[in-house]
Amino acid sequence: MQAIMNTYGRLPVTFTSGNGCWLTDNEGRRYLDALSGIAVCGLGHAHPAVTSAICEQAGQLVHTSNLYGITRQQELANSLVRVSGMSNVFFSNSGAEANEAAIKIARKYGHQKGIHEPIILVMTQAFHGRTMATLTATGNVKAQEGFGPLLSGFIRVPFKDIDTLHAVAKSNPNVVAIMLEPVQGEGGLATASAEYLEQVRALCDERDLLMILDEVQTGNGRTGTYFCYQQFNFMPDVVTTAKGLGNGVPIGACLAHGRAADILQPGNHGSTYGGNPLACAAANAVVNTIVNDNLCERASTMGDYIRQSLHQHLSEHPLFVELRGRGLMIGVVLSIDCPQLMALALNKGLLLNVTAGKVIRLLPPLIINESEADQMITTVVELINELT
Ligand SMILES: *Cc1c(COP(=O)(O)O)cnc(C)c1O
Repeated sequence: MQAIMNTYGRLPVTFTSGNGCWLTDNEGRRYLDALSGIAVCGLGHAHPAVTSAICEQAGQLVHTSNLYGITRQQELANSLVRVSGMSNVFFSNSGAEANEAAIKIARKYGHQKGIHEPIILVMTQAFHGRTMATLTATGNVKAQEGFGPLLSGFIRVPFKDIDTLHAVAKSNPNVVAIMLEPVQGEGGLATASAEYLEQVRALCDERDLLMILDEVQTGNGRTGTYFCYQQFNFMPDVVTTAKGLGNGVPIGACLAHGRAADILQPGNHGSTYGGNPLACAAANAVVNTIVNDNLCERASTMGDYIRQSLHQHLSEHPLFVELRGRGLMIGVVLSIDCPQLMALALNKGLLLNVTAGKVIRLLPPLIINESEADQMITTVVELINELT
């Protein structure tokens, strides 16, 4: 491990293969995966459609650059536009880069209106990535520590507080956009209500701001619709996604709508790898499988099932506070810090995650079945009981 920079505290396990919701380590032990590589492997591990798409494309053509037409990229853009109702797409290799594209769109939108020092409003507890701009947009002082100077052009407001958002937007004529996550994946699964999101949309319309939704984690079926905003009655101007889009093959996307769609012009932005044939072949298989196998609906019904069962088991428990999230993005909030649960769960053959100190984060593959869900719930309840 010494040859790898020490940026992650890793658990002492190494996986060598996977199948569906299950992973096998190098000693042959099996684990139920309720994390999906952090909301990435929504179709589970070694999904045959993704495997064959990767193998076929690898044997044909891996990369040509964006200086030429890319059939797989055009197919993927068409599918994403169709499932999202957005107008067009820029492809990147990660979520942070998708957000960088969104931030550049917002800034140029401002410059086009004569605002030369554009400001983007961002939320407390937000997570948008680790590049300098997205780290600045991220609402975690610990993650920012040691990396100043951060960028100018961002103002933080409390998440889910529409009155403060209104006040800050009104008192700053340089505000050009509001950027937020519908469910804060890294920020303890804090979940925006339909009402709040619709109020943000109305404020953006009123003040001619771009509404940027970071759906890097909530997208690709995770919350019960292809994108989370499709559960509400509005369209964002910009949506970013990544994680679940490639089922493990690195790819991100920044989708724009209406007036945001034509802001980036030749020479304004780019990526050498972004949207290359291999990544797009994998993502095409993912999008087609999510749509054809009705995995959004499945995420919604399995999410309800898991929530109901967790509630039944935990509602009277002294350490239980509440359930958060949407669909198969589930946060179990406890009254005490429980970072040790990741390792304890691993010992019981379950992969899960803890965010914001007290929130158990469950992100099982969208293909999880009832008996696997029951097993996950039993282990989670056991773990919480053993905390007392
Ligand atoms: C993971 C995540 C990112 C960053 O994506 P990377 O692919 O790690 O760069 C950005 N926003 C949200 C909401 C995320 O969950």
